[in-house]
Amino acid sequence: MDFPITDLMSDKASTEWILEHFHPDGLRCPHCNAAWADASEFRRTRQSQLIVYRCKGCHGIYNLYSGTIFEARHLPPPEVVLLVRGVLKGESAATLARELGRSKTTITPLRHLIQANAAPLQTDTPLNDQVVEADELFQNAGEKRRRPLRPARPAALPGE
Ligand SMILES: [Zn+2]
Repeated sequence: MDFPITDLMSDKASTEWILEHFHPDGLRCPHCNAAWADASEFRRTRQSQLIVYRCKGCHGIYNLYSGTIFEARHLPPPEVVLLVRGVLKGESAATLARELGRSKTTITPLRHLIQANAAPLQTDTPLNDQVVEADELFQNAGEKRRRPLRPARPAALPGE
């Protein structure tokens, strides 16, 4: 028996999980790197119901999945969370497709991308036992984007 599990999951909680794991340094404009706070809500995508933001700096648009392997895949947040969970648990594309009510054609390439991103992060220990840079799992390798280096912070500010 398959449960209609995506219907039971909260869109809001799933969005928060994705935000935390895909964008640990905060969502930013992929075009000019401006902060999410400097964007306005522009519209919602039809299928995945994601908010599309318009950057006030460069007027570029982006959403929660921009720069990740889920970009332009039209999956609502609860499905993305379940897909990631299933792939990391080693479930087959057939099982995942059935659970999510999607075709194997939709699921298989995403499963491969997550696995390909996970491979270099894996050593001898199972993935879920390691502290990995989780966001690297979801980075769109085709974009060859490097995260900006964090500015070096002095150990203590003067006067502290
Ligand atoms: Zn921008």
